[in-house]
Amino acid sequence: MSRSDRFDIPCTAQERLVLDHVAHAAAALGVPAYVIGGFVRDKLLGRKTKDMDIVCVGDGIALANKVAERLGGNIPVHFFKTYGTAQLKYDDLEVEFVGARRESYSEQSRNPTVEPGSLEDDQLRRDFTINAMAVSLNPADFGALVDPFNGLQDMEHKIIRTPLEPGKTFSDDPLRMMRGIRFASQLGFTIDPVTFAGIREHAHRIRIITQERITDELNKIMLSVTPSVGLDLLYKAGLLKLIFPAMTDLVGVETQEGKGHKDNFYHTLQVIDNISRHTRDLWLRWAALLHDIGKPATKRFEEGHGWTFHGHDAVGGKMVPRIFAKLKLPQNEKMRFVKKLVELHLRPISLTKENITDSAIRRLIFDAGEDLDALMTLCEADITSKNKQKVKRYLENFELVRERLREVEENDRIRNWQPPVTGEMIMETFGLRPCRQVGDLKNAIREAILDGEIPNNYEAAHTFMLEKAAEMGLHPVKLP
Ligand code: ATP
Repeated sequence: MSRSDRFDIPCTAQERLVLDHVAHAAAALGVPAYVIGGFVRDKLLGRKTKDMDIVCVGDGIALANKVAERLGGNIPVHFFKTYGTAQLKYDDLEVEFVGARRESYSEQSRNPTVEPGSLEDDQLRRDFTINAMAVSLNPADFGALVDPFNGLQDMEHKIIRTPLEPGKTFSDDPLRMMRGIRFASQLGFTIDPVTFAGIREHAHRIRIITQERITDELNKIMLSVTPSVGLDLLYKAGLLKLIFPAMTDLVGVETQEGKGHKDNFYHTLQVIDNISRHTRDLWLRWAALLHDIGKPATKRFEEGHGWTFHGHDAVGGKMVPRIFAKLKLPQNEKMRFVKKLVELHLRPISLTKENITDSAIRRLIFDAGEDLDALMTLCEADITSKNKQKVKRYLENFELVRERLREVEENDRIRNWQPPVTGEMIMETFGLRPCRQVGDLKNAIREAILDGEIPNNYEAAHTFMLEKAAEMGLHPVKLP
């Protein structure tokens, strides 16, 4: 086992204090203790750390209790006797304790049977070499890096590699395949070819993992700096087809009469990378991922013209709730936001044509409402082409649309707008119960305002309502 000299992890004062207490508590109990895993990895990478994992060769729960006692202030220790793990929170720092263990797995489950083991056994059960490094908290070699699988070297070379034969690592716990790809995407690392071959070989094992865990990793990939890295790896590993087949339906280019179309999968990956430079909003990133999801279902070849995807915006929008349900993503306003953006994603582009009326601009502002800025961000990200001149021209046109939007918005204040005459007012004026005529009148008023036929105020809307109602044979029950 390779142990380096004293190794100074750059810690905050709070982390240092906790580590000192762990060291003293462990010495008092006579159990060797180490800080291990993601904490060590992220410190070495200079990333922000979240929680701290402590492993001891002995009873993790007893160590946690002793540390809590030393920290004072009646800090509660939550423990899970069956797993031999414990957890405490010191201010906002979460500290997990576990006794070093050896694991063995069965075919059907990612939950292993465990028995006490050595530090090296514990490091062997870790998923990747960069996650298996430990730093000693023991008096004899406090601060020494214990790195039996050369994690430090892999980190320098930016490599994701399993400590064991990859087939074993991935077959034991197939979630590790998603984790490996997620780390590659988050950290900008490459997956070692042998490790990647292991993922490809065991991709089918992903079926024993719950959807929630898969989606959790998928969301982390979506939030990484360049999500296309993780998504492409998922595709190339054969995992994407299993966990999200609608995405792989986008792959490929068909040619007829010498005419091809874009590869919609790689176009989508470019769009999500583009949008990720402008937003960290997970749901806006999901909208980018799903914006063309309706294309495979609507693809047609029109003779003499080429490939079309008519209505892919509406079809894609309809697919969103089902995709969210299948992936166990929320069924709330987040889903509705993504659906709306997918449905509207072609609208701003269509406004880059010449002679666009104020009315078309007004309609977009009305339909997008408070999501207009998000929609514009999506549409701008959707401009992808190998031809740099073309992209430049589109972006310039797009800037003009933004300007028109600003102008019309300033004049009309139509965003988040409610028509000045409500359904209740209509019912009251004409003595109606809720019925179709009320809806027709309301729509007519809204359309007249959006088309610029009448100004956006109460008087104009009220006069228009009376005229329209008269045409429909309706008369006010009381004088206006
Ligand atoms: P993140 O916090 O970004 O998810 P992490 O590596 O810290 O990354 P945790 O889930 O906090 O992830 O796990 C802490 C450590 O536990 C890991 O660094 C790794 O050593 C080990 N670990 C976690 N999940 C697994 C797993 N599925 N298989 C093997 N080891 C794992």
